[in-house]
Amino acid sequence: MITSVKGTRDLLPPETRVFTRVEAIAKDVFALYGYDEIRTPHLEQTELFVRSVGESSDIVHKEMYSFTTRGGQNVTLRPENTAGVARAYIEHGMAQSGFARKLYYVGAQFRYERPQEGRYREFRQIGAEALGPADPATDADLLVMLFDFLSRLGFAGLAVALNSVGTEACRPAYVEALRAYLAPHAGKLGEDDRRRLTQNPLRVLDTKDPALAELIAGAPRMLDLLDEESRAHHEELLGYLEAAGIPYRIEPRLVRGLDYYTRTVFEVTAGGLGAQDAILGGGRYDRLVSDLGGPKVAGIGFAIGEDRLVKAVPDEFRRAAIESVNAVALVALEKADRADALALAAELRRAGIAVDLDATGRGPGHGLKAAEKRGARVAVLLGGRERETGSVVVKELATRRQTIVPRTELAAALSEGRKGS
Ligand code: AMP
Repeated sequence: MITSVKGTRDLLPPETRVFTRVEAIAKDVFALYGYDEIRTPHLEQTELFVRSVGESSDIVHKEMYSFTTRGGQNVTLRPENTAGVARAYIEHGMAQSGFARKLYYVGAQFRYERPQEGRYREFRQIGAEALGPADPATDADLLVMLFDFLSRLGFAGLAVALNSVGTEACRPAYVEALRAYLAPHAGKLGEDDRRRLTQNPLRVLDTKDPALAELIAGAPRMLDLLDEESRAHHEELLGYLEAAGIPYRIEPRLVRGLDYYTRTVFEVTAGGLGAQDAILGGGRYDRLVSDLGGPKVAGIGFAIGEDRLVKAVPDEFRRAAIESVNAVALVALEKADRADALALAAELRRAGIAVDLDATGRGPGHGLKAAEKRGARVAVLLGGRERETGSVVVKELATRRQTIVPRTELAAALSEGRKGS
């Protein structure tokens, strides 16, 4: 037997219905905020991620699916989508309009991580990027959009963990302070964290080693070393969030695992997900576009882990999403009923009723059992007798209630039943 590749998974119905519903709501909400969809390739030049996500990040250091093409080009399956969006923004001269470009994406990302519950090698992200404006009101608008989306999925009680990582004007001093603080404790650090300490001490704050919690808790805070402009940006943002009623908490050691962030960074976690409880992360990246050879254009965005989001959605949303696709099972009782059943199915579908046709013609017992198995709420049975009388049997599968309905009234009766449920 050939199985799926380790760390990848098949999304099956009815779970796929939850994914579809989540994506539909994301698209609706993002459109309300002026965001348009972008689709970038899954495959990018490796250099793109090295120069944006950064060599010291875990992603570039050890998690990329990179290979050389037959033509000798070094390419990578995208581990995240912001770099691809920034590349496309530059490549298509989108900055030239002089206006903000607000873009969202939905798609698969690839990281060679150790698979575990909630962590996959192929996973999906829903993300949004606002390219152009550098002002804190744009940060607030993005976070308001995010919470609007999450609350439409039924989430309550989520809060955004927020920090500022400053800019190149003040971060070097912080990095040095952090290095000086951590250096005497280098002996306590594992191999990965020791590498981070030399390459980029900020990364040590992201350590996965629980034994370092106390050390990290005592580390200097970036917020204490922000320069005037970054501090003003941060404080203005907090004011807007309070005015908009967005719940947040300051998380002074939040740095996020990617190198391109400046100023605002944030993360949202949800309960019930176990160790992998971050459902989304994001931040401002005012140098990313210029670092990639584009114009000096600011940006901010977030990426939601769709797999984790779907796992965490409230039960009510999940149930509604699953039940939203509820076809009527139309059963042709005998082979002789097939043509008639096809015609009736077409009639109902024209009236907007979803019909799952069962034309196997294996009798009522088999037809009803199959309808139940496929999750139908209502079965419509069509047999010899019904053909003669121009009627059908409508059976509610949960209650077993059965009525005889004239064919001419069937579409109306089924639409009525749907409204009542
Ligand atoms: P990042 O791009 O690392 O900021 O991640 C953003 C979000 O993507 C995280 O909060 C997770 O929800 C999700 N995510 C990241 N890596 C994985 C993974 N390997 N498997 C599933 N979800 C992931």
